[in-house]
Amino acid sequence: LTKADVAVIGGGPGGCAAAITLRSHAPGLSVVLLEASAYGGTRLGETLPPPAAAVLEHLGVAADFAAQGHHPAYGTAAAWGSAAAHENEFLFHVRDVGWHLDRAAFDAMLHRHAAARGADARTLARVEDARRRAEGGWTLALSGGGSVDARFVVDATGAQAAFARRHAGARPTAGDRLAGFVRFFPPGSSDGISADAAAGIGDPRTLVEAFRDGWWYTAPLPGGARVVACMTDTDIAREMGIADGERWMDALRETAPHVGSCIAGHGAPGPVVVRAARSRRLDRVAGADWIAVGDAASSFDPLSSQGITKALRSGIFAAYAAGDLLARGDDAGIRRYERFVAQEFAAFESTRTRYYAEERRWPASEFWRRRQEAASAAA
Ligand SMILES: Cc1cc2nc3c(=O)[nH]c(=O)nc-3n(C[C@H](O)[C@H](O)[C@H](O)COP(=O)(O)OP(=O)(O)OC[C@H]3O[C@@H](n4cnc5c(N)ncnc54)[C@H](O)[C@@H]3O)c2cc1C
Repeated sequence: LTKADVAVIGGGPGGCAAAITLRSHAPGLSVVLLEASAYGGTRLGETLPPPAAAVLEHLGVAADFAAQGHHPAYGTAAAWGSAAAHENEFLFHVRDVGWHLDRAAFDAMLHRHAAARGADARTLARVEDARRRAEGGWTLALSGGGSVDARFVVDATGAQAAFARRHAGARPTAGDRLAGFVRFFPPGSSDGISADAAAGIGDPRTLVEAFRDGWWYTAPLPGGARVVACMTDTDIAREMGIADGERWMDALRETAPHVGSCIAGHGAPGPVVVRAARSRRLDRVAGADWIAVGDAASSFDPLSSQGITKALRSGIFAAYAAGDLLARGDDAGIRRYERFVAQEFAAFESTRTRYYAEERRWPASEFWRRRQEAASAAA
């Protein structure tokens, strides 16, 4: 049995930022950071826009981040509302440099920083169950045995919000049905093409391309690989059969000339990875002894490329709020955090609605009709 003041469940950007900040803001509090994986598998979300730089600096991880060699990203182009691809400011701050991330390496780097600040940071530590203790706080049961007693829990489990929904009674607001059907293309390593040369294949920007049933995106990754994703609603995806590798490839060729041209020179892609990408937030993001951060609190359409930055920022804010509550009994920060998440989500929703309303080429398509209706309702 481990005892800690705060248990952070989930070692993505949100959980790691919370653990790092708790240790610097309230060093008297003990923190355990529980991450289910060993950062070995596929981790989605690769484009980090320029405003993230200030957040990484604030966390004190900027130097390590720079040393990791993530790919610089010089903007985003979108074939949206017309067949031609244009630079797009909504998706990116075009004048500044962002990054295409090796996501697993990025998340693992943050986890190491949490450990260096004195958090008991663990990998392969999945929280299977939780129950409230009679004397206050929580007992968390870990996979493979072992448990953690904590006065306060930070739910950083990502979009599933596993702890807040199962144990704290929070409910997600109604969201859309967007999902990503994602494949990774390895560098074109044969024929004497080096990884660096291969990295230059295709468009160096993040590229977004609308089609009748949704939109595609692609971005180059460090080491010369490339990610390509088809984003559509789950019911439409079933009709398209897009989870099937061959159908996916046919759809790419038929519906996305800009994105499709980027895979030339790459090796054969890996399997289709499916991820929910709904935009929604929890009706409650905090209680007396828990708080939700990152995608667990609210998840944004990946079109915004804001998920990672938002997760880092909310981990920081939530840690300040939890630190004040636990160290001084002051819950004003928790109330401020709740208002912040609600306002941030409202602002995102109105931008998203406007952006989807700009695409009018397929009025009969179910995917776009749903979004046009949302725009009309908002108007
Ligand atoms: C297809 C797609 C593309 C995207 N593209 C971008 C992009 O280009 N740019 C961008 O900024 N964002 C993007 N996003 C969003 C971005 O990935 C998320 O917003 C971001 O990862 C949220 O961080 P997080 O820390 O809240 O959650 P996550 O990154 O999901 O991390 C949650 C962590 O919790 C762990 N975990 C879960 N359950 C447990 C448990 N029970 N016990 C212990 N650990 C647990 C998981 O292993 C994981 O490490 C994209 C999302 C999708 C679906």
